[in-house]
Amino acid sequence: MPGEKKHSKKREAILAKIRSMKTHPSAITVYEELRKEIPDLSLGTVYRNLALFREEGKVASVGVVNGQERFDGNTTEHTHFVCTHCGDVMDIDAPLDAHLKEDVASRYGIAVHSHRLTFFGACARCVRS
Ligand SMILES: [Zn+2]
Ligand SMILES: [Zn+2]
Repeated sequence: MPGEKKHSKKREAILAKIRSMKTHPSAITVYEELRKEIPDLSLGTVYRNLALFREEGKVASVGVVNGQERFDGNTTEHTHFVCTHCGDVMDIDAPLDAHLKEDVASRYGIAVHSHRLTFFGACARCVRS
C-alpha cells in the first residue's frame, strides 16, 4: 500500500530526527524541525510515534519539563540536568553509582534493571541572568 509506505517513511524520519538531536526535544520541537522537510506532517503523528518509540524502547523519556514531555534518542543509562527556568535538558558526565542498584535490589528483594538520575536547577546561562 502506498499509504503504508509513506507512513513508515515518516516514522523513520521522526526516529532519525530525535536520534540526531542532542537537546532532548519535546514532540512539538521535533515536529517544528521535521515540518521543514515533511510539510504534510502532523503534530499528532509525531506524538503517536514518539509514544510508540518510547514503548518499544527506541527512545527514552526524560520526563515532563515545563508541561512538555521531553525525549532522548540516547537510550543508554546516563545522567541529566534539567534547568527549571528555561527548560534546557542536558547530559551530565556523572557516572551512576553501580552499587546503588545492588543495594536497593537486596534491601527490597526486587530486581533492578535500570535507574535514572536527574539534577534540577538553573543552567549556567540562567544563573548569570
Ligand atoms: Zn536555563
Ligand atoms: Zn540524555
